[in-house]
Amino acid sequence: MGALSEFRFFRPASAAEAVRLRAEHPASRFIAGGTDLLPNMRRGLVGAEVLIDLSAVDEIRDMRRDGDRLRIGAGVSLAAVAADPLVRERLPALAEAALAVAGPTHRVAATLGGNLCLETRCQYFNQSEHWRAANQFCMKLDGDTCRVAPKSSRCYAAFSGDVAPALLALGAEVELLGPQGVRRLPLTDFYVDDGMKWLALGTDELLVAVTVPLVEGRVGSYEKLRVRGAIDFPLAGVAVVLRREGEAIAEVRIACTGVSSRPEFLVGLDELVGKPLDDAAFAAIERAIKRGTQPMETTLMSVPYRRRTTPVLAKRLVRRLWDEANQGG
Ligand SMILES: Cc1cc2nc3c(=O)[nH]c(=O)nc-3n(C[C@H](O)[C@H](O)[C@H](O)COP(=O)(O)OP(=O)(O)OC[C@H]3O[C@@H](n4cnc5c(N)ncnc54)[C@H](O)[C@@H]3O)c2cc1C
Repeated sequence: MGALSEFRFFRPASAAEAVRLRAEHPASRFIAGGTDLLPNMRRGLVGAEVLIDLSAVDEIRDMRRDGDRLRIGAGVSLAAVAADPLVRERLPALAEAALAVAGPTHRVAATLGGNLCLETRCQYFNQSEHWRAANQFCMKLDGDTCRVAPKSSRCYAAFSGDVAPALLALGAEVELLGPQGVRRLPLTDFYVDDGMKWLALGTDELLVAVTVPLVEGRVGSYEKLRVRGAIDFPLAGVAVVLRREGEAIAEVRIACTGVSSRPEFLVGLDELVGKPLDDAAFAAIERAIKRGTQPMETTLMSVPYRRRTTPVLAKRLVRRLWDEANQGG
């Protein structure tokens, strides 16, 4: 890994000041925990002449219940999210996803906002300058061809954050602050299916907070496929949130990560509501995953393997949660 390039450093004390600095310095980046940004800068994958440190912006470091929603500031650490009693009890999918990120020391520094805004990843991008040069670079940086889909006009780098699928399955919203003020978006609309521009976040906007509905009777979980048991990005990850009423599905929400350029919330599962969890339901889940995800050769683990394991992870989780929901009710 190379040395860090020169940069100017600001440490604003408010979200408004952070946004003003971002607008004033087009070649700037926000830095939260720095656990993704700094390695990427050292590898020369991401450039920034100015870093705007968010660690003194207290208003984004707060987690509180707001009626039937939990509001989590973008600056809250993943360790704090995973340890929060309300998150553990009512939003277990979120607690598990936060705990699945990197290792314990990363999670103390890493923030929710940084995880949701994570740079997309690809085996042709996350490499040294030498390696990339020897492989004629790629569209995401310095080249003009997507190496995993050479005929394509777009980049297929994969979104590989663990927390986004859990929040998508939970129906979260994001709160963004820009020079024009605050806007709120469903998390589904925060992501774009493009490895080079995967966030619907303006260049001068700050992710301030995420709000998550607290829905009675929901159970949820997150599981990821990775090579090592820790400190490893998801090669495929699945979050499931489910409600059961007797022998009928009251709600089933599934989202995936690592298998597209954005975390994918699966549409089309509403048709299962009111029905039993039988072979037809599992087949519908498998179809929704096949339709909704597009694993490419962005990692060393093969596409057919990831294509086959993603529905396996989802169906296994649904089965376990279905049984758990029965015990709870
Ligand atoms: C060895 C290693 C293993 C890892 N394993 C995993 C893993 O298993 N799963 C996983 O999901 N991640 C993993 N990561 C990546 C990273 O640690 C986490 O995703 C972490 O949550 C990033 O958060 P951060 O606060 O450190 O972000 P930063 O590095 O500070 O920022 C990341 C990006 O988000 C932007 N940003 C940060 N906050 C905001 C905000 N409030 N508004 C707008 N933009 C913002 C930054 O400008 C930057 O572009 C790993 C990293 C390392 C080094």
